[in-house]
Amino acid sequence: MKSEVVLDDIRARIESGYPLLFLKTAEEDRWERELAELALEMERGLVSWTITRGLQPPFSDDDIEPPSATRLLGQLDGYPEDHLFLVKDFHPYLTDPLILRQVRDLLPELIAQRKTLLIFGPVANVPLELAKDSVKIELPLPDYEDLREEFDQVLTGIHQRQTSPLELTDNDEDRLIKAVMGLTANEARKAWQRALHGRTALNDDVFTTLIAEKRTLASGSDFLEFYDLEENVDDIGGLDQLKDWMAKRADAYSPRAREQGVPLPKGMLLLGVQGCGKSLTARATARLLSFPLIRLDIAALLGAQRGESEKNMRNVLNLVESIAPAVLWLDEIEKGFAGVEGDGSSNADATMLRLVGTFLTWMAEIQKPVFVVATANSVEHLPPEMLRRGRFDELFFVDLPNFDERKNILAIHLKKRGWKTEQFDLDDLAHRSEGFSGAELEQIVVTALIDAFGNQQVLSQQDLERAWRTTVPLSVTMEDKIFALRNWAQDRCRRATSDSRVTAMLDAENRTDDVRIPLDDIDSPTVPPWAQLASAGQLKAGIVEFIRTHGDVLFPQLAEALEPYLEVSGEHGLAVRSNSNVVIWSGLSQSLCEFLCELISSKRLYIHPTEIDRYKAIQKGIRLPILKEPTDERVPRPSWLPSSLRTAPHPIHSARLSRIGRMKWG
Ligand code: ATP
Repeated sequence: MKSEVVLDDIRARIESGYPLLFLKTAEEDRWERELAELALEMERGLVSWTITRGLQPPFSDDDIEPPSATRLLGQLDGYPEDHLFLVKDFHPYLTDPLILRQVRDLLPELIAQRKTLLIFGPVANVPLELAKDSVKIELPLPDYEDLREEFDQVLTGIHQRQTSPLELTDNDEDRLIKAVMGLTANEARKAWQRALHGRTALNDDVFTTLIAEKRTLASGSDFLEFYDLEENVDDIGGLDQLKDWMAKRADAYSPRAREQGVPLPKGMLLLGVQGCGKSLTARATARLLSFPLIRLDIAALLGAQRGESEKNMRNVLNLVESIAPAVLWLDEIEKGFAGVEGDGSSNADATMLRLVGTFLTWMAEIQKPVFVVATANSVEHLPPEMLRRGRFDELFFVDLPNFDERKNILAIHLKKRGWKTEQFDLDDLAHRSEGFSGAELEQIVVTALIDAFGNQQVLSQQDLERAWRTTVPLSVTMEDKIFALRNWAQDRCRRATSDSRVTAMLDAENRTDDVRIPLDDIDSPTVPPWAQLASAGQLKAGIVEFIRTHGDVLFPQLAEALEPYLEVSGEHGLAVRSNSNVVIWSGLSQSLCEFLCELISSKRLYIHPTEIDRYKAIQKGIRLPILKEPTDERVPRPSWLPSSLRTAPHPIHSARLSRIGRMKWG
């Protein structure tokens, strides 16, 4: 809440005759100034009291007795009507029954004389006996405008002290102010003075220093963790789309964007393969925005006793708001919010559903600059509400890095450790490391460095290759999971890497065929991408793209589409390897069969059993006995399994149907 609004509230309460206001604040100086101004505006006398100095100004010149709570209460009557008394740190005395009684006895007199006691300090416990006649008000931390005033004063001081002036643009000033929001005015002043002292220009370190001052704010909570901002956007290899998007969001926090009514960004959900830079992106985002990064530990929040979870959630979200602007990072939300089915089914956990609801409502309503970055490695346990459009500004899918990204990531990690990239053949290493995540590529660099150092040698290409050879990428064991995730994300998420599927396909082909065609040549709007790829000789990529575009393709349909680009008919066919009596399709050329076998065994395409009627509608003269589903039993030879090609695995038989062999059928 704005300070002005709170001051208006205090004024209204004084005017309506409240004898007691409990004012809670950690900012004694600033609020004392504000209250003094308020008293002046209201034309009321203001007297302050502390146990060390007694009343100020003193009750009388010859008042030499040591101050005490009882004496204070006894002296109030001696002041004219309409006076305000700013009584600091009085709460310990209110636990004394004698003092408490004295205050209660005084109340009618205070009301009659329109006097108000402002009980002022960081603790504001209102005794039950006084609850009816008093009100408790939290005095907020300085808002943007308050801090702007403080900042102007600090800046004037710096300019007076320094011979060479500190050059700041409007945008710099805005960032400097936002970086300390959540601090008291005093803390903010000190933080600016420390960070700007002796400087003539700003750099990124100034903001990281300022943001680090907020660490103490999060330290009061068991569920929030404050992160140092070491990485920036340049430390992320690839993810170009995501980076562009983030840069635009950073602009949306500028004063110009505010003036033009641009809404505050809410956040992004990063879904993707493990170790591909989601957490890194969360950290770099905070640095880009110059906001502190606070991680919310959902699991710890939920670990608490059942009834406590929601209360904890609300408290934590309030705290986050008080730290704002901030990046709030929810890591692995699929684990944190695990168990939320969201469909009201019997095993849906009601508490969890409410928690997700509380969080989403907060996210939708918050008026402060809090940018939420949620990361997830899978979608199975994600509450569907979280994925609904409009919750997050964008859902990004972070895939395994492509060739260029791998090169870039290797270069980043070599440079980070002081090595020049020209010394190494990164093209070769990037080619070899298909399927490696960013974390695994970093691991290659680290392992190679340790080995080279252990052997007392300078890091060489051989060290990197050796490290590559000994690293088994997670994508080998997780291939199906990654594929399923990729497929899920296809129509639901924006790709963190370049959006063009053609580029991705080309990249995939480049790994094997080494044929490169300039993107300009293939970005024709009229010819479909699959046809552009096929006509450029990228046949495997063209086939996958054709099937991806059409969703579910029968063999004759594929053959017809590919006819202009290669020989499609012949004496070859496909059969299930575990039982070659099970025929998938025949009458194909050797090369088309080979392409299909390769694509199916590398799990870029999948076989799905389909209805015979679909074939009958397009093909005459099918003579083979028909098999409905694959079976291990020996079947009367040969039987045909009517199938189609898709890019998603079959839910049950994907393992068996991915082992397909080519056979001559003459
Ligand atoms: P997880 O889901 O397992 O937490 P993640 O996607 O969040 O994985 P990170 O924790 O960001 O992955 O990656 C681990 C480390 O790998 C990073 O700190 C960074 O050093 C390196 N790394 C991963 N991806 C990239 C990338 N795109 N560019 C540079 N480094 C990367």
